[in-house]
Amino acid sequence: MATLTAEIEKDTKKIPVKGMMNNVMMQFENAADQIQLHPNIKKILSITNNEIIVNFPVKMDNGEVEVFTGYRVQHNNALGPYKGGLRYHPTVDIDAARALAMWMTWKTSLAGLPYGGGKGGIKLDPSKYSQEELERITRRFTFALADNIGPEHDIPAPDVNTNSQTMAWMADTYMSTRPPAERTANQHVVTGKPAGSGGLEGRDRSTGYGVYLSIKFWAEKNKKSLKGKKFIVQGFGNVGYWAAYFLEKDGAKLVGVQDAYGSIQNQKGIGVEDLFNYSQVNDGSIVNFPNANPVLKNKFFALNCDICIPAALGNQITKENASKIKAKLIAEGANGPTNVDGEKILLDRGITIIPDILCNSGGVVGSYFEWLQNRNGELWQLDEVMSKLDKKLKESFNKVYEYSEREAMDMRTAAYCIAIQRIEKAYVQRGIFP
Ligand code: GLU
Repeated sequence: MATLTAEIEKDTKKIPVKGMMNNVMMQFENAADQIQLHPNIKKILSITNNEIIVNFPVKMDNGEVEVFTGYRVQHNNALGPYKGGLRYHPTVDIDAARALAMWMTWKTSLAGLPYGGGKGGIKLDPSKYSQEELERITRRFTFALADNIGPEHDIPAPDVNTNSQTMAWMADTYMSTRPPAERTANQHVVTGKPAGSGGLEGRDRSTGYGVYLSIKFWAEKNKKSLKGKKFIVQGFGNVGYWAAYFLEKDGAKLVGVQDAYGSIQNQKGIGVEDLFNYSQVNDGSIVNFPNANPVLKNKFFALNCDICIPAALGNQITKENASKIKAKLIAEGANGPTNVDGEKILLDRGITIIPDILCNSGGVVGSYFEWLQNRNGELWQLDEVMSKLDKKLKESFNKVYEYSEREAMDMRTAAYCIAIQRIEKAYVQRGIFP
């Protein structure tokens, strides 16, 4: 990215800072001050490299045509191709895509991966569309993105409301638009594909498994056992479910869950598999689960528990609810779930936060394994994947934990410092073209 044009643009353009972008920029500036980041590198990292907005038409089941808006923001690629998910949600806009792309840059750098950061999606509520419509929307979006994505350039993955099926459609569309001899060699244009079509065994659980591992590593460092510890989860999608699954297996007790439709609690424990099976026959929702009581939306974070796992959307823990949180540990499964005001209150109260760029990095590490598997024409076994994930995430966790202890700072600032220093080093070594 270090082209002259990009550099000039970075110098002159200012991103209008609001919403999630405000949050990630404040986190970045705090860490940049701590490490006295060189002002030139700060200039480069404060703005995105490329922002792609596409409007594309799709034929609906009733014969009408709807026009959708899709986004792909490529924040930085100093360490390798842009990497990050695509989400389908009404909150997707340019501000959200920029912030989420920036978080990906820090996440991939912290994890020691050869990637930069990107993010995007489509502004839509997927529950309003049939499977056939979602397939056509996904394929047309992929076609509209065209060569702005690519296996060695920008590699999307699942995120909120997108899954392995979405990735299979994307891979197929992208490959179908290549010359015949290049088709199969391009399947690593996306990661998070189904295991039968170039996907990695275990990629489905890798984010939730990473959230669980972060909690486990933290407990080990603090000589605590997870047995009998109560936890609550916001979001019972791929991340929330798998995190709860592994925590329960380790003896912890799920006592509260919130999804987009409502919240439930049971201090005696909610069976993770029972809840999952219930949600499968209840339009994907946990509402009215028989073995729990309903909770008011604004009372959810105040539930009695030891560990709180926000695994849904951004800006959920704020100054409105941070003082009511009972948990002693927040493990951020989502991206940006705690805003800067909320975080300040939590830290003042002595509550530990395992930051998103560390806590949910199992997903992109799993993606990296899938990308390598495709690139090298290999097929990895589940146990191999899980033990590789374990090793990689332990390294990241220890790095952040030790840095935060040594420098007497919170884990988010420590994670940012490590991530930014790695990118800074690459710029210093390589220089700025020309
Ligand atoms: N969407 C996930 C994240 O936010 C995964 C990204 C990826 O695997 O590229 O980390």
